[in-house]
Amino acid sequence: MKTAKVNIALLFLFSVTENMQHTAAIPSKTTNSKNSSIAIIGAGVAGLAAASRLIELGFTDVTIFEAQDRIGGRVFPVPFESGYLQMGAEYINGRNNPIYKIAQSLNILDKEENDAMDSYDPLKDATFYSGNCALAQSSIDKFLKFIAPLEKKFTKRATEGDEADKAESIGHLYGEEYKKFAAEHAKLPKDKDVYDAMSHFYQAYYYEAEWAADWNDLSLINFAQDNCSDPVDPVQIMNKQGYKAVLDHISANIPSSSIKLNSRVASIDYSGSGVRINLTSGPQKKQFQKVIVTVSLGHLKKFAKTMFYPSLPQAKQKAIDKLGFGAIGKLFLVYKKPWWDPEMTSLVTVAVENCANSTAADKLFHTFELIPWNKNVLLGWLSGPGPAAIDAMSDNKVSTTVTSLFRRMLKNGTIPAPTKIFRNQWTTNPLFGGTYSYISVAAAKTGLSLNDQLAAPIVVDGVARVLFAGEATHEDVYATVIGAYSSGRREAERLAKN
Ligand SMILES: Cc1cc2nc3c(=O)[nH]c(=O)nc-3n(C[C@H](O)[C@H](O)[C@H](O)COP(=O)(O)OP(=O)(O)OC[C@H]3O[C@@H](n4cnc5c(N)ncnc54)[C@H](O)[C@@H]3O)c2cc1C
Repeated sequence: MKTAKVNIALLFLFSVTENMQHTAAIPSKTTNSKNSSIAIIGAGVAGLAAASRLIELGFTDVTIFEAQDRIGGRVFPVPFESGYLQMGAEYINGRNNPIYKIAQSLNILDKEENDAMDSYDPLKDATFYSGNCALAQSSIDKFLKFIAPLEKKFTKRATEGDEADKAESIGHLYGEEYKKFAAEHAKLPKDKDVYDAMSHFYQAYYYEAEWAADWNDLSLINFAQDNCSDPVDPVQIMNKQGYKAVLDHISANIPSSSIKLNSRVASIDYSGSGVRINLTSGPQKKQFQKVIVTVSLGHLKKFAKTMFYPSLPQAKQKAIDKLGFGAIGKLFLVYKKPWWDPEMTSLVTVAVENCANSTAADKLFHTFELIPWNKNVLLGWLSGPGPAAIDAMSDNKVSTTVTSLFRRMLKNGTIPAPTKIFRNQWTTNPLFGGTYSYISVAAAKTGLSLNDQLAAPIVVDGVARVLFAGEATHEDVYATVIGAYSSGRREAERLAKN
């Protein structure tokens, strides 16, 4: 797939010279000089990687504007006891990438896990709880056998199928398979309810919690990308420092005076001879020669139309509109001591329809895992409608909802409420508007690489003046820290050459 994909990046080098109101060019010698003034919007991994690379290349006037009071963006390690709870990114997708190399050099790698469907199966390792509608082991086994080959089948179709195939949604393809399975195995309505509930778990955990997408909008083409689980390149789990150490490493050569925290950019005016930055607190006096924009696709979806002057070229706006940006959620539930079986690896709540005592909120939850370095914490994964619904609740409401779920699913009224909940409400924060990008059905239908289209710089008078980095601008490893880091360095190098 990767080799078959036409590299169309060059086709999308936008030139907006004709639209310029002021076209007085900065002489190219000045433009390329190492004391050019460079603004970077966002101190997430892409922004930090861009700044760090520019400084390595000898640039001396680099300013990062970051809206929050911290660096890291969607990498958000929160100190807890002897380590860090990762509110955002936690894992590294494989070994063959720069983030793995950083983690290896820092000696923070803990273990690896092959999460390809045919070799690693949380269904096998998990303990299932379904309250008054106990699941028969025979049902679990039948369902397990049914789903085992599916991801491989989808991946094969993604890599070998035609354009129309690649724009099919995973939800639709699964629906076709499931119809056949249910016709054969779910003879009674109550059996169908059980398999529907198992299907819901499969959808929520394997696809929607992995891709941050409604699986009815998750196009098959995502499974032809490099960031798909690779049996020879397993997922890497770091120790309790994890991304905190990676973040420190990436930002080590950036002077703190270059990072302007609490500085939210309202608009970027590139109509004159340089770039003017307007913060929500007011305009910046200084004019910059170039800017690298690294804000999330979620933020661009909300604000791109008002954020740039002149407006973004149509092709870029189309990429912003059509690419998908969804959400997952992570709930760290802290208890005085474990109330669960210490031998289990994960606890799955299976909400069977029409089950006595069930509530509509039960379907918002599915998988709770242990974290390796603290025995008193459960990590709950949210996906599909879960993140938005839970983000809208107060901590108190989350606590009562999840405690009620556990008590009914495990049929144990003594399960305590968590003493503390750690979470970040990614869906309600306008700086993110979700968690990460995916290729939607509408994006796949265009037949274009919209990630490349998003990455293309805006060229003014032959010089790349407005450049774009961030995970969603990476053609293969979008949705990851690897994609964010590589895109930041890519744009620093592009800027240095242009
Ligand atoms: C819950 C969750 C789990 C994840 N799990 C993993 C994982 O296990 N492995 C993995 O590889 N990836 C994971 N990811 C994805 C990964 O975190 C992101 O792909 C990556 O961190 C994105 O970095 P970025 O620099 O592109 O964007 P961001 O981190 O979003 O950085 C952009 C920055 O811009 C700032 N900003 C936004 N708007 C403005 C503005 N107007 N003015 C100034 N500043 C602004 C933001 O505050 C932010 O700091 C996860 C993400 C989340 C949220």
